[in-house]
This record gives sequence, structure tokens and C-alpha cells, in this order.
Amino acid sequence: MKEPKLTSPKEVRALLERLAHRPNKGLGQNFLIDANILDIIANTADIQPGEAVLEIGPGLGALTERILPRAGSVSCIEKDPTMVNYLKSRFSDFILIESDALDVDLDGLFAGGITKVAANLPYSVASRLMVEMAECEHRPELMSLTIQKEVADRLVSPEGSKHYGVLSVLTGVFYKNTLVKKISPTCFLPPPKVWSAVVRMERREVPIVGNVEYPVFKNLVKSCFTQRRKQIGTILKKLGVSPVDALLADAGIEHTERPERIGIERWAKLARLLS
Ligand code: SAM
Repeated sequence: MKEPKLTSPKEVRALLERLAHRPNKGLGQNFLIDANILDIIANTADIQPGEAVLEIGPGLGALTERILPRAGSVSCIEKDPTMVNYLKSRFSDFILIESDALDVDLDGLFAGGITKVAANLPYSVASRLMVEMAECEHRPELMSLTIQKEVADRLVSPEGSKHYGVLSVLTGVFYKNTLVKKISPTCFLPPPKVWSAVVRMERREVPIVGNVEYPVFKNLVKSCFTQRRKQIGTILKKLGVSPVDALLADAGIEHTERPERIGIERWAKLARLLS
């Protein structure tokens, strides 16, 4: 039997009916049906012949079928058993891990040679997955991801922007993040309530923060951004840091600055001084 075309809404609907499957909202099952967007995600990953690629949440395989011919090997992590069974019937020659991606040893996969990630991420766990992948010792060199537009704004925003925060800083330490393309809800089946975006995360040659200081850095950034409208001097005093004025002066930060105006390098300097 001819396999259904995953960019045809009619054929995807018929396939879901045949599988007796209703898209699971909790698992973020909004399937991409727009060939142009799928090509953009695959192209952004810039897959070179022979490269090992990871896809998280392949669903019915619309992106998988674009990655498979370009890569040396493709590993997929999918949580939904119906999707897993369908993927097994549709594709051969790929590695399928039936699991919650949050339970998988991602660093182990990257250590095993995976250098790229291409995915339309399940939105409920997208931020967490991006930070977890960025924090891996063997972090991938390039990630091409579809996420909620609102999360993409937080990912790419520089200091001073209203979207700049913990996600921008914790991923920005390891990656240069750019927004590649906004995606309308109509490109998905069923359409989500919000706009989405393709983002590109390119690994920095040298992370802005070293391994030793990273735990202090992360703690500092997370604690300070819970009070993003307060002045940094006041926040640090409350956190029991001493001597606040001297530390801030050494880090090149004004006592009255707010967390949202402090760039990654200055957070890094402050963390270095604190550790
Ligand atoms: N890649 C497909 C596409 O673009 O049409 C589907 C993307 S859909 C937004 C997200 C996929 O991730 C679904 O197939 C869902 O079952 C799967 N998923 C959701 N949560 C997951 C998790 N924690 N770990 C692994 N897969 C998950």
C-alpha cells in the first residue's frame, strides 16, 4: 500500500483515523503538514553526509522522512506507542527509542557521535529539553528546532529586551541562538492556539562560563531573575552576598541595574567572583 503523504491534511486525517488515534494535546501532537516549513527545519540543521542526527518527537515522521536521506544515521525518541508503531511500519534504517525524552541519557547519545538535532519539539517540555541539551558535556554542534514563538522570543532576546531571561542566559552560555522563521498555526494539524517558530542554535566554540563556575552561575541567574524588576544590589544583599558593592564593581555592574539589563558576560564575571 502507498504510504500516506504527510503534507496532505486529507491523508494525515485519514491516517489518524486508520490508526484510531486522536492527537494528544498533553503530548503536544500538532503535526507539521507544511512542506516548506519542514524543508526549512531540515535545511537549517545543515546535515552533512555521514552525520548522526537526533530527532525528538518524530510523531508520524514528516520531518524524519526529510532527515533520513541526508544523514548517516537518525535516532528518534518518541513517547507515544501509536506513533512508535506507525514509525516502525513506515521507516527502516533508523534507531527508535520509545521513551520520554526527559528520561533518556541525552549526553550519552551525543557522546556516541550525534552532532545535530532537528525536531518539532513537544511544547510542554521544549524549554527544559533545550536547557538540558545545552548543558550536556557533549552538546550537539547545531540544533534546528520548532518551538512556540513566545519561547523562541525568550531564547533569542538580548539583554534589555522584555523577553530576556533565564532561558536566554542558560542557553546563550553555550549557543548562539537565532530565529529563522515564524510559523502560522495553519501549518499544523490540528492547528495549535499559538504561533510557532524555527530556531537555530549554533554551539559556541568556547562556552561563556566554564564547568567549574556553571553551578554557581545557574543558581545566581535563576535566583536573580525571579525578582527581575528589583535592583541587583538589593537582590544580592537579600541573598546574603557580601561585600555586594565591591563584587558588583569588579563585575562592572551598577548597584541599581536590573537583572534584565545584565548580559551573559557580566553574569559570568559575577559568578566567577562569587565562586
Ligand atoms: N515531528 C512531528 C511533526 O513535526 O509533525 C510531530 C511533532 S509533535 C509537535 C511532538 C511529538 O513529540 C509528538 O509525536 C509526541 O507524541 C512527542 N512527544 C511528546 N512529549 C514527548 C516526550 N516527553 N518525549 C518524547 N516524545 C514526546
